[in-house]
Amino acid sequence: MSEKPEKLINKKGLRLDGRKTDELRPLKIEVGILSNADGSAYIEHGKNKILAAAFGPREMHPKHLSLPDRMRLRCRYHMASFSVPERKSPAPSRREVELSKVIREALEPSIFVEYYPRTGVDVFIEVLQADGGTRCASITAASLALADAGIPMRDLVVACAAGKIEDKVVLDLFDTEDKVGSADVPLALMPNLNMVSLLQMDGILTTEEFEEAVNLAIEGCRKIYEMQKEALKTKYMLIKEQEEVEEE
Ligand code: ADP
Repeated sequence: MSEKPEKLINKKGLRLDGRKTDELRPLKIEVGILSNADGSAYIEHGKNKILAAAFGPREMHPKHLSLPDRMRLRCRYHMASFSVPERKSPAPSRREVELSKVIREALEPSIFVEYYPRTGVDVFIEVLQADGGTRCASITAASLALADAGIPMRDLVVACAAGKIEDKVVLDLFDTEDKVGSADVPLALMPNLNMVSLLQMDGILTTEEFEEAVNLAIEGCRKIYEMQKEALKTKYMLIKEQEEVEEE
């Protein structure tokens, strides 16, 4: 990380990247970009760049891991060696193993796992560029990859963090804010069901601040959810247009 900045919020109430306290980073989401995966999505969340690819439901390998009454979801979160300023070892770190588990647990409640007993669904997440909040952006992209693969789901899962910098609760922390700030609360939401499937806290907050952060993160999730749905629709509009051209 570069030198510790003096102030994370200036006199005008703006953050280092010019955002207001309740503002999301710019987002770009695309669905169905990998032809060899059953479903895929790409997200740019601020400077984060993340690819997600989903496969399945398919026969489980190794077979002994299959479950008699439901499908098994497996997730692998991985950061590319070039995703952070100093080369990261390509071997899975403890952090990546933990995040893979956290992401799987955030996604699983949205899936009708009981529809496909004995099968497996795999989600591979590749972080190409990281700038804080990659677990949240990964969940948003992975859920879209699952939807794109046609996996029956109760709802999409969308994630976003809020946290505390300089005694203020703010939305969607980027790397420097995450490291220099005093708390980070990542949250994943199934917006239609109004259910939270991930809630973590790193740092210290008062009960009031925690409530404020949770509410802010939920608001952020709802905004991203609209973009998620738009990205899914865009893919199917493109397919429809292509089919119409081919018919002509
Ligand atoms: P999240 O990405 O979900 O916020 P963390 O809080 O663990 O997860 O990480 C915060 C940020 O720290 C990451 O988004 C990334 O920018 C940075 N980071 C993580 N691992 C490394 C690493 N090995 N080297 C440099 N920066 C890293």
